[in-house]
Amino acid sequence: MSGISFERLSSDFMICNPYKDFSEELHRVEIRRDPLLGDSSIYNPFLKDKARFFFGDNDPELIRKLVEESSGTCIFCGEKIGKNTPRYPSTLLAEGRIRLGEALLFPNLFSIGKYHPVVSLSKAHFLKLSEFSSQLIGNGLAAASKFLKTVYHADTSVSYAVINANYLFPAGASLVHPHLQMLITPVAYSYHERLIEACNTYHQKFGSCYHSDLIAEEKKTGLRYIAQQGGWHWMTAFSPMGSNEVIAVHEGEGDFALLSDADLRSLSYGISKVLSFYEVLGHLSFNYSIFSLRKSHPKEGFRCLLKLINRQNLYKNYRNDDYFLQKMLQSELIINLPEELAEKLRSFFVKA
Ligand SMILES: [Zn+2]
Repeated sequence: MSGISFERLSSDFMICNPYKDFSEELHRVEIRRDPLLGDSSIYNPFLKDKARFFFGDNDPELIRKLVEESSGTCIFCGEKIGKNTPRYPSTLLAEGRIRLGEALLFPNLFSIGKYHPVVSLSKAHFLKLSEFSSQLIGNGLAAASKFLKTVYHADTSVSYAVINANYLFPAGASLVHPHLQMLITPVAYSYHERLIEACNTYHQKFGSCYHSDLIAEEKKTGLRYIAQQGGWHWMTAFSPMGSNEVIAVHEGEGDFALLSDADLRSLSYGISKVLSFYEVLGHLSFNYSIFSLRKSHPKEGFRCLLKLINRQNLYKNYRNDDYFLQKMLQSELIINLPEELAEKLRSFFVKA
């Protein structure tokens, strides 16, 4: 039996609109709750046409200047990456770093976790979203997978891994150069922990995996289901945690270290498609995270999960897209309905 319900509540209210001679106008907000965690998001149909008011347009001249000015001092560019980036001790990693194609994995000098490698993804200092190829992303994920296996072999104290991407300043990146950051820790960080706990509770209560049930439910209605690529099911999130959120769930595996090469290729393919889609929507900055739980961990019902969102566009004096609603209330604003987003995104995925 599935324990999933897509809960939403609408509130109607009147506002006297100054642009319509202060005549009364009916407004509506819809509040959605994430079926697993209960996190809320809010949709106001009036805001839909005002996406530009919130996100503005990217300023090509500002981006050109940013790329040009940052490339001179970038430690991930050219020869500098070999000289200026740290290495792991040979007791952990014989070569000190992991090189796969254009991807290079090395430790972060300013770690926020026991293992916190950075993966530089490309030789190019800047990429348009449609230039994040499946191969570039795939080599980065394969390097992360290799490192995770190495760490698991050497250290039984760590069970939680997340592979993260910040692209450009609105997403919190301090460097322009495309890169990933991986965290492998003995304690799960807040959101990851909530996911693991909720999946375990769901498993105990219903005897099934939440994400397997989600795949089945979303396939049944087809409203937010996008496509299957290998073992991954791509969907939009019913109650998103960020702008235009797209998720991918692995149908059987919860430990990133146990994903096959084909799994990593399918995942990279999907990420590159979603990024191309964001470019068509006029966005450039993004975040994503891939959540993993070690197989030997006693908590049950967890599946590898990718969550991908776009961030604020780049222009002079841009507003941050995290305001009190996100940062303090931990709720999200829905500009594009997840159902409409899924409809548009389907054409970017070739039928598997
Ligand atoms: Zn660079």
